[in-house]
Amino acid sequence: MPADHNHSDAHTFLPPHVPAYACGTCSLEVALQDELVSRSFQGTSGPAYLFRTAVNVDIGTKTSKQLLSGKHVISPIHCSGCSTELGWKYIRSGQFVSPDSSQKYKEGKCILEKSKIYKDNKWSLDD
Ligand SMILES: [Zn+2]
Repeated sequence: MPADHNHSDAHTFLPPHVPAYACGTCSLEVALQDELVSRSFQGTSGPAYLFRTAVNVDIGTKTSKQLLSGKHVISPIHCSGCSTELGWKYIRSGQFVSPDSSQKYKEGKCILEKSKIYKDNKWSLDD
């Protein structure tokens, strides 16, 4: 088997009836609704959601990024199905501009841009 043919085997297949968010490009599920922390974040191009975890994504190389809330160390998040960049993961947050721990809760969490995902609402018409 070719070494680069390993993506589909690595996908996490969620059980049916679990509300989730999916990649807007290839429909692969990338985050569970249960993992949603906040809908009030700002991405690079508009509203974004903060999730505790993401699934079926590739985490890129760490880099520092100037965000509205200060300078953060982040890793870009790419969909593992189609490689579209969906957002980023906070590695270290805000310590450059805010030595207090107000940004700490973001560390290890994932931002997914609203415009790049959609809600795969399998059973509920809420929201
Ligand atoms: Zn995708």
